[in-house]
Amino acid sequence: MTKRDYYEILGVSRNASLDEIKKAYRQLALKYHPDRNPGNKEAEERFKEAAEAYEVLGDSDKRRNYDQFGHEGLRGTNFREFHDINDIFSSFGDIFGGGFGGSIFDEVFGGRTQQRRSRGSHQGMPGSDLRVTLKLTLEEIAAGVEKKIKVKRQKKCDVCNGSGAKSSSGKATCPQCGGSGELRQVSRSMFGQFVNISTCPTCEGEGRIIKDPCGTCQGEGRVQGESTIKVNVPAGVSSGNYIPLHGQGNAGRRGGPSGDLLVVIEEEPHSHFTRNGDDIIYDLLISFPTATLGDDVEIPTLMGKAKLTIEPGTPAGRMLRMRERGIPHLNSYGRGDQLVRINIWVPSRLSAKEKQLLRDLASAEHINPTEEDQRMNGKSLFGKIKDVFS
Ligand SMILES: [Zn+2]
Ligand SMILES: [Zn+2]
Repeated sequence: MTKRDYYEILGVSRNASLDEIKKAYRQLALKYHPDRNPGNKEAEERFKEAAEAYEVLGDSDKRRNYDQFGHEGLRGTNFREFHDINDIFSSFGDIFGGGFGGSIFDEVFGGRTQQRRSRGSHQGMPGSDLRVTLKLTLEEIAAGVEKKIKVKRQKKCDVCNGSGAKSSSGKATCPQCGGSGELRQVSRSMFGQFVNISTCPTCEGEGRIIKDPCGTCQGEGRVQGESTIKVNVPAGVSSGNYIPLHGQGNAGRRGGPSGDLLVVIEEEPHSHFTRNGDDIIYDLLISFPTATLGDDVEIPTLMGKAKLTIEPGTPAGRMLRMRERGIPHLNSYGRGDQLVRINIWVPSRLSAKEKQLLRDLASAEHINPTEEDQRMNGKSLFGKIKDVFS
């Protein structure tokens, strides 16, 4: 399914301010709110669509990525699509504050969360998500890498197969809630009758209690352990990107579903490259004779050594661009470039003979800058990027 443009969804221009975006989203959210459109699937879709558009355009980083690369630009960033309407309420509770429709949303927010919790009954509580940091070198990021990481996490108890009970007859229906996992309380007020649903404290929503707990896990159905997990990292990731591994987090209590494992990428600083987006910058130090007369030099790249031609008359500060020697673009074709910044070495330890050579040179006709050179400095010579095809 092709996605609609986020600006089009919110009905704002591409250079809309954050305030305009917020306002447009509020209006759409109120218009298509499920409470105002009960059972209307299309309104629900519009509501979700608007929330997704706001999640991106309301965040300056995500918006920049989207402006530059479209929907593709959001992959691999910490962007998620909303599949469940509850996600929208839990993410955006804050923007509806300030008296603007606040009451409707608070009401729905509260109600939905409760419904959601009780839906999980008759099953053990889900395990929590885990987060681990994976450090990668720039070379690993450039090539993509498969890593094995050790994770301390709660695993299903093998003795009771996650049930928490010593034997299959070790569980019984909860006497307090009669197996529903929730308690209903009816209260009356001047506004009418309210049904308050809460999780049963005796069975914690499960509907069953354990009479005879497993000795290994003390009835929890899970034990502390360590696992080695394989992670495939695509080329082109950056610090802060994460790879979600579904169901690889902590095991759920008493057979409940496992949480997720989020592998967060951290890029290690490199000894001689600086990353700038998908380009990498390398500072090259050359001698004054090389800068003046030109030469071929060998420099490191992420893919091994490469030859670089320094043309005669290359000034300090010039950037030489080596195409396609940078980091591959994440989830698209092509890669960044390597930029080589020219620095000129000024020696500080010289022999008497070397000093004499320089003194002779200092009075030579073309060695000192003219007034014209001084005027042009910073305009044409300095900082100019020159393409190199190597
Ligand atoms: Zn109960
Ligand atoms: Zn057990």
